Amino acid sequence: MNHKEKPKEKKPDAFHAPKGMHDILPVDEPYWEKIENAARSIGRSYGFGRIEPPVLEDAALYNKTSGEESDVVAKEMYTLRTKGDDLLALRPEYTPGVCRAYLEHGMSRLAPPQRLSYFGPVFRHDRPQLGRYREFTQIGFEVIGGQNDPIYDAEIITLSINLLAEVKLKDPTLKINSIGCRVCRPNYKRQLQNYYRQHVGELCEDCVRRLETNPLKLLDCKQPQCQPFKDRAPNFLDKLCSACKAHFRATLEYLEEVGITYEVDARLVRGLDYYNRTVFEIFADGKEAELGALGGGGRYDYLMEIIGGHATPALGVALGAERLIAALRAKEISLAARPVKKVFLAHAGTLAKKNAFALREELRRSGIMVAEALAKDSLGAQLKVADKEGVALALILGQREAYEKSVIMRDLSAGTQESVLLEKIVEEIKKRLKV
Ligand code: AMP
Repeated sequence: MNHKEKPKEKKPDAFHAPKGMHDILPVDEPYWEKIENAARSIGRSYGFGRIEPPVLEDAALYNKTSGEESDVVAKEMYTLRTKGDDLLALRPEYTPGVCRAYLEHGMSRLAPPQRLSYFGPVFRHDRPQLGRYREFTQIGFEVIGGQNDPIYDAEIITLSINLLAEVKLKDPTLKINSIGCRVCRPNYKRQLQNYYRQHVGELCEDCVRRLETNPLKLLDCKQPQCQPFKDRAPNFLDKLCSACKAHFRATLEYLEEVGITYEVDARLVRGLDYYNRTVFEIFADGKEAELGALGGGGRYDYLMEIIGGHATPALGVALGAERLIAALRAKEISLAARPVKKVFLAHAGTLAKKNAFALREELRRSGIMVAEALAKDSLGAQLKVADKEGVALALILGQREAYEKSVIMRDLSAGTQESVLLEKIVEEIKKRLKV
């Protein structure tokens, strides 16, 4: 090495977002805005009020409700031990936290049912792949309390389909099933176990365990080797008790009443322990179905009891915002562009720079979006930025204008300019831009 050459500095490793997590950037803003606005307006139109439980909850809340055997708890939950030795979990789903809050705030005393909606981050330590992140955003709606009436099952599904239509995701596929209740489920589980026990040597490891701990989940297995057994498994819909059958039939009839088409899928059980009766998932049409379900939900009439409340009819849905956005992008659904800045503000000289700073505030208050390069002192350099911004008008404040309390307004496409009094500038810009 030549003695004049400096030894190469070792660069520290660049930081990256954690695996499976992502940044939301300004270019993504129109999509998020669209989805947030749709969620808010649909929620309001059905009478939902916002609830946002903390991101961290007692980990035991999920063990008890979602189920120790569920993938969400057994494999995917992020937990942390606090300095006070509490075991907390980053929420792997919202429903248990919403129910905890419902009980904690005595919401059962309010007019039933309570309609609660949320929009926020959820964490699952899953294998990242298309449409599957470790941090993602759920938009959810829960209807808690009141009667165990199938009209609410149909309402929550209708709301979900309407939310998709609102963001122009038309013709989604709705898959729906009933997984019974405390009366009919034990009997079906036994039949399922008897059937699967004949094939135990051919099942995947998880299914062998599920066979004893949670046989319904056998129908949820995605392993290719287990598919033929799933296909031939006894059908729960044939074994539902008469009350569950009537509930399911009425749900479908209400959906038909509002023109919603559905596919009954007897293998749909959903991954969580607390569901009963209606369960459903919604997929995008066409090849965007590959993203996985856009949303899913169901009834959870026993959940409140599990966490110390009274038996409370309840149901809900959660949709994945990132999957909705991926479907919008894949379908090239056009959105309103981000608002463009129409005016460029430039200055020349120290006093003019101060005045420009104040003028920018005034323009902003008047609803005029301003592009600028106020930190550059050369007027030429500032106007180069104006070119890049593609604005229609440039406002130039020089020393003379600063003393005269005026501003030069230059029409960048026509190449003409005029001097306008500062007190008239907002009015003049609005006239020019027709805003
Ligand atoms: P789930 O209750 O697990 O069915 O989740 C409800 C919705 O959240 C799904 O239909 C997806 O749209 C979305 N979702 C679930 N898991 C993920 C994930 N790992 N990454 C992105 N979105 C997800």
